Amino acid sequence: MGDGEKTTDTAAVRLRQLATYFREHPVRGPEGHCYTRFSAHTPATASGIPFNARVSEHIEASVAEVVAHTRAANPEAGPRPERVDAVYDWAREHTRNAPEAAQFRRDMLEYRHYLEHAIAAGDTSVVRPHRCPDCRTVGLFWQPERATVICVNRRCTQTNGGIHRTHSLARLAFEHVALERILQACAT
Ligand SMILES: [Zn+2]
Repeated sequence: MGDGEKTTDTAAVRLRQLATYFREHPVRGPEGHCYTRFSAHTPATASGIPFNARVSEHIEASVAEVVAHTRAANPEAGPRPERVDAVYDWAREHTRNAPEAAQFRRDMLEYRHYLEHAIAAGDTSVVRPHRCPDCRTVGLFWQPERATVICVNRRCTQTNGGIHRTHSLARLAFEHVALERILQACAT
């Protein structure tokens, strides 16, 4: 592979893992089209939708989201790549001259997808290294029942009326990309 090959943990890598799983566990019989993503209040087993059908819909919705964002930023972007995990490189390539706000949204989208793909595959540890956007400490956990991130820091909970603060994956992605931009600016 060329210089596009990445060994780091990215949205593309996580999506490839999900897509591979899906290929190896093909859906048989009629598919349930009840895409609920992470707002799902019913676990996969209770909804009766096979896990792989949910994964398939998750992959399709994720790719569609990247394609829609890319085309909005650059109507000349052309056809999407055939391989689903190539969509992030494709998005970056076709928005590299877009305004900073669009590039920021693109990076945020990619990072949110990285978190979502990992969680969809059952790896919720990806939220752990993040700092709580409110109390700035490390102590975040994914709560599957509520499909949200919670902060277990005691003082953070106290200042929130005794209730654990919750954060969306989009919020974590925003914080992550904003911090990346600051670090990049400092390095140059
Ligand atoms: Zn907190």
